[in-house]
Amino acid sequence: MLEVPQVLGQERVRRLLGLALRHGRFPQALLIAGPAGIGKRALGRQLAAALLCSHPAEDGWGCGRCRSCRAVASGAHPDLHWLEADPNTKLTLEAVRPWHTQASGLTPAWGERVVGVVVPAEELTEAAQNSLLKVIEEPPPTVTWLLLTANPAALLATIRSRCQLVQLDPVPARTIADWLVSAQQQEPSRAQEIARLAAGRPGVALEWVQDSRAESLRQEVSQVLMQMGRGRAAELLEVARAWSEAGDHLARRLELLALGWRDLVVVQAWEQGAAQHGQDQGKNCQPPVPLYFPELRPAPQATTLVSAGRLLACASRALALARQLSIWGSARLQLEALLVEAETAWKG
Ligand SMILES: [Zn+2]
Repeated sequence: MLEVPQVLGQERVRRLLGLALRHGRFPQALLIAGPAGIGKRALGRQLAAALLCSHPAEDGWGCGRCRSCRAVASGAHPDLHWLEADPNTKLTLEAVRPWHTQASGLTPAWGERVVGVVVPAEELTEAAQNSLLKVIEEPPPTVTWLLLTANPAALLATIRSRCQLVQLDPVPARTIADWLVSAQQQEPSRAQEIARLAAGRPGVALEWVQDSRAESLRQEVSQVLMQMGRGRAAELLEVARAWSEAGDHLARRLELLALGWRDLVVVQAWEQGAAQHGQDQGKNCQPPVPLYFPELRPAPQATTLVSAGRLLACASRALALARQLSIWGSARLQLEALLVEAETAWKG
């Protein structure tokens, strides 16, 4: 039987919303915010099921068995209006227009309620937001709105002020790793690495598991890591240009780069420590942390020491840049500055 997807983590948010559901105090419009991959859609489906369920469970959430819950799971509930933008496409006035006409519908077909979901809400054009505002401002009492967004600041202040905001929490790495092992059949050590890389976002972890390009991206970033430390700024600017123009997977590359720089710092510290204590640095003796780039051993720039502090600072900046890509239109300048700054970590 098809089931509504489970929400991983988010205990605080689920408790909060469960209370509102149970006591009939669910807001008319909810803005669910959090970065891509954190679980906004899964939560949206769970909430829709709960709001439309004919026999809600004691905790306020959907029963998972009734006709309504099953219809939500299969995406075929007539009272669930799920408006989702195609990738790189805006939600225009045309997309929200049906909600203004009585016939097509915000009138419940099955029960007493309609749930309207917009995802991602930041893709609504200004005209579409203004149009949506009218139905949110004077909604029929039967309608509940769920707006899902990675970037609440991109919405009109008038929309934000009409919605209650729920910010999703990063899912603990341990929770993601356990789920990758039990539900995605990953090896525990790989599951831990992917969970760390996913930085609290199960959807990103799933992309790493399912995307056949993941390994080729990793190899591509590995080449750049090997090139660094040779003082060839022109080559790095070329990398920044190529990555920025390719666009897709830029965030993944940045996350891998951050992980690679961390690996370099670990490898150098471990090799120095092992050398000082006269220990065997052979293949059988592994650093204490699993490496995402095992080919970095022995450190490729062994003759030039890396400034660990500077490189880790660059890794933080790479992660921050990856998070902000959806906000900034182009990241080329920031990426150039970051790669050139990282290069100086080998000189200092
Ligand atoms: Zn149900």
